This record gives sequence, C-alpha cells and structure tokens, in this order.
Amino acid sequence: MKKLIIATGNPGKLEEMQTYLGNLDCELALKPKDLEIEETGTSFRENAHLKAKTVAQATGEYAIADDSGLSVDALNGAPGIYSARYANTDEERINRVLRELGNTSQRGAAFICAVAIARPDGTIVLERERSCRGEILREPRGKKGFGYDPIFYFPAVQKTFAEMDPIYRQKVSHRGLAFSALFPEIHNL
Ligand code: IMP
Repeated sequence: MKKLIIATGNPGKLEEMQTYLGNLDCELALKPKDLEIEETGTSFRENAHLKAKTVAQATGEYAIADDSGLSVDALNGAPGIYSARYANTDEERINRVLRELGNTSQRGAAFICAVAIARPDGTIVLERERSCRGEILREPRGKKGFGYDPIFYFPAVQKTFAEMDPIYRQKVSHRGLAFSALFPEIHNL
C-alpha cells in the first residue's frame, strides 16, 4: 500500500486519525470534499465498510474509514449509529442526551468505533471494532475534544474526555484502541 485515503470530513476525527496513522510508511491523503456518503448501514461496522468501500472505489486507492458514536445503556444504546444526526449542533446533541436521561442514576455508556480498510476494488481487507466505557455526567465539563466529549466521564482519571490530555485520551479511547488494533497487520497491505 503506497497511499491511503482517509475517508472522513470530520475535522476532530481527521486530526486523530492522522496521529494514529502517522508512522505508517505510506502517503496519507484526504477524501475528495464533494464525495458525500450516506450512512445507510444498520451498525457501526456496516457504515465503516460502506464509507471505506465507496471512497476506495471512487479514488482507485486504498481507503480507511471509521464509524463511531455514543451508546447509552439507559437509552437502549441510543444515540448509537445516529450520534452525528441526533440534533443539529454538538451542544444540542448533548442537551438531547441529558434531557432523555433525566435524573436517572443509571449513567453507564460506551463510545464505540468500527474501522475498516478497503483496497482499490472496494474489498474490505482489515477491520476492527473497539469500545471505551464511561459515565454520562449531569452537565458538560471541559473544552477539549469534540462531540459528546464534555459529558463522557472516564472514571479511571476522574475526568471527562473534554478535560483529558489528548495524548492520554487517544491511548484509551474507542478510536485509539480500534486504530492500534490495526497494527501490525496494516503493514502487510
Ligand atoms: P460518524 O462516525 O461520522 O458517523 O460520527 C460519529 C459521531 O459520534 C460524531 O459526530 C460525534 O458526535 C460522536 N463521536 C464519535 N466519536 C466521538 C468521540 O471520540 N468524542 C465525542 N464524540 C464522538
């Protein structure tokens, strides 16, 4: 593999993905801006496949995509694959989760990430799925990160993802774990 197209338009995710893939001996490139992919899958895994396959076939290069989101126990796994579409802005998405959870003491949740690599013909050649457990706070805390980070509390360090040192967060997060699990096989592509 000489070149790998990163199939995301989300700046928060892009920065992280570039860090994880930085020591790969191949050129990293961004997906064409006008290539929109509708996430019609019914699982994180299906959506990651769909994005990697579509970008690989459209560019004729290897492509890597992830699909991720927040799964809240007391909401039966919502927002799940609809995490990005749960409302119009990060703030509104957070408020919706907090409103739906209300006063319940059952605050367990997980961030989940599926990652897939497709070769130029669209065949998926490597994939992983990992999760990271935490708790949903009653109000947001912290300014780092993106998405639901300010309400996702990680008990091991008693901080939300938005308060944590990004380098440490990348080691323990769903996306960090899923991308680490691509190694060493990714070197053989
Ligand atoms: P998608 O994978 O592009 O469909 O979007 C996933 C959505 O889930 C993001 O837009 C965020 O709202 C949320 N999400 C996924 N990973 C994270 C994370 O690491 N921190 C905060 N929010 C996340």
